[in-house]
Amino acid sequence: IRVLSIIGTRPEAIKMAPVIKALAASPAVEGVVCATGQHRQMLDQVLEIFAIRPDHDLDVMQVGHTLNSLASRIFEKIDGLYTKLAPDVVLVHGDTTTAMAAALAAFHKGIAVGHVEAGLRTYDMQRPFPEELNRRAIDLVAKHLYAPTESSRRNLLQEHLVSDRILVTGNTVIDALLQTVERIHGDAALRVRLDKSFEFIDRSRRLLLVTGHRRESFGGGFERICDALARLGQRGDLEIVYPVHLNPNVDTVVRERLGGAKNIHLIAPVDYLSFMYLLDRAEAILTDSGGVQEEAAALGKRVVIMREVTERPEGVEAGLAELVGTDPDLICTAVERALAGAHAQAKLRQIGRTLYGDGQAAMRILGDLAGEAGQ
Ligand code: UDP
Repeated sequence: IRVLSIIGTRPEAIKMAPVIKALAASPAVEGVVCATGQHRQMLDQVLEIFAIRPDHDLDVMQVGHTLNSLASRIFEKIDGLYTKLAPDVVLVHGDTTTAMAAALAAFHKGIAVGHVEAGLRTYDMQRPFPEELNRRAIDLVAKHLYAPTESSRRNLLQEHLVSDRILVTGNTVIDALLQTVERIHGDAALRVRLDKSFEFIDRSRRLLLVTGHRRESFGGGFERICDALARLGQRGDLEIVYPVHLNPNVDTVVRERLGGAKNIHLIAPVDYLSFMYLLDRAEAILTDSGGVQEEAAALGKRVVIMREVTERPEGVEAGLAELVGTDPDLICTAVERALAGAHAQAKLRQIGRTLYGDGQAAMRILGDLAGEAGQ
């Protein structure tokens, strides 16, 4: 059975890396990898860390591309690839334009689609935009639905989708995280190198790690987030490290508002190994990222989510995460609560891994695909 994995952005590459590795190591499956290059720079960084060399690269990125021009370039280019490779299954991940276009193009050609991280929902078509539409469109056409959690499986069941092939696998992001954190802890030379890269972080202060990239917060949202950070920087007991997303809608506002602010380190996006190192060192996390909510939970770190909605309710329900939107007062008080609860890390880590995954998700996906090959 030939399985073609498609990746386009940094989070897809991280979360598909364990699956791509498992497929490559299995004699029952022929794994082929195609990168679309939707986020060229950030994607390539991840591929290097996991030593993944895509067999095909569509190189669709163009300066200033719109969602429509991006999608149409992927549709156009991927059609020929499907004809040439004739895969049995096309595997996509999550909710990006890459995943949506690759899945729909496969459906048009009668190729089975497997959706890794199926069933996440906000049930609000505008938030996150365009991700909620993308993930729903993929689930509509997918034959293999790999739901990360029971709650994502329940979402799929109540939608009466045509596919009844739902498998709860855990989230592959936890596979990648556990492998990487183990690598950092086990490799003294690597740790020395990472310590050195981040020696600017004052160890006598508490570390707050920040990330943000959502379209729904462009404009006023990011301005309010910056106000909250400036206020938190005034506390004096915090080191705030913020790898700023390269999107100009984020980067320009954040650097204008926070450049030179006290106790705030604005840095370029860091590679995945460095990010895992920072996450491991942080006492609390402020983010709008989906993957970071899961990663932080699996390390027992409390998260403040600066969004109005989340498709990952598990962490919020278990008290590991707080959903506060972009109001500066709400962000600041939630960060205080997160820091106050940071001592319970070991207990929270256990809860986080029960909620989001035990590190075996990729093997379950492989088992399902290889089982199909044997039928
Ligand atoms: N990440 C990274 N470097 C950074 C910030 C994040 O490698 O500077 C990783 C992080 O570990 C997570 C992923 O990027 O796995 C999250 O990506 P993003 O927030 O862009 O997307 P989302 O998870 O919301 O889809």
